[in-house]
Amino acid sequence: MLLEVENISKKYENALTPAVSGISFTLDEGQWLGLIGESGCGKSTLLRILAALEEPDTGLIRLNGKKVLSPAWKLIAGHSDIKLVHQDYQLMPRHTVWENIAYSLRAYKPEYQRKRVGELIERCKLDNLSDKLPAQLSGGQQQRVALARSLAEIPMVLLLDEPFSNLDYTHKNAVRQQIVEMIRENGTTVIWVTHDTAEALAFPDTLALMRDGQWLQTGTPQTLYHQP
Ligand code: ADP
Ligand code: ADP
Repeated sequence: MLLEVENISKKYENALTPAVSGISFTLDEGQWLGLIGESGCGKSTLLRILAALEEPDTGLIRLNGKKVLSPAWKLIAGHSDIKLVHQDYQLMPRHTVWENIAYSLRAYKPEYQRKRVGELIERCKLDNLSDKLPAQLSGGQQQRVALARSLAEIPMVLLLDEPFSNLDYTHKNAVRQQIVEMIRENGTTVIWVTHDTAEALAFPDTLALMRDGQWLQTGTPQTLYHQP
């Protein structure tokens, strides 16, 4: 078991009900979980807690058997191995597309950086945009840069929050296919929040349906979508 999540709950201050309530699940290495449910049901909150960007009220997270998070919210080992791709792209405004992607590889040799960034630019269909600044790009292009950056160094667990929501029709299928392949090549475990039924049916091994902060149901995409 790669990831074990136990009894995660979180109520925001002044909220009447918890955003996330008693969620437990496990994921194997390389397993892809799709997370679906109406807007406001707690999907993003859950991802932020898993990425240690939000503090839960209760819960335990283990990665490879090691505690990542204790109930007293002490970050322990390995949390950088769980990475969230934000919905807002958080690109560095004064740096080019190339530099934004290369930044996440700054610990590597220049030669390797050039090769890896070149590959990401090609697979995310960003050719011709290497020297542009984020403000010169469309929303869809910025989203592709953010995806390329987060895939430069693929973590053990990748959390995707509506990763393709801004891509237009001409790019969506091709870019999505390339990115799915890149992630699979690395054997990464994925949790993928999506509102796109085609995506939810095509890519995850397992789907979880959330409602009002709770884990309502888990199953294969086919069983979850074809119920009366
Ligand atoms: P989803 O991603 O499924 O749309 P969210 O996790 O964003 O759901 O939100 C779950 C609930 O928590 C909603 O009621 C939302 O209004 C509330 N919420 C989300 N973020 C915050 C926050 N930072 N402060 C207070 N309430 C929040
Ligand atoms: P994508 O094709 O990445 O999904 P959009 O659908 O947002 O991007 O935009 C379609 C095309 O319109 C882009 O390829 C781009 O050339 C152009 N475009 C849109 N907005 C801008 C902008 N703010 N600056 C420059 N070009 C833009």
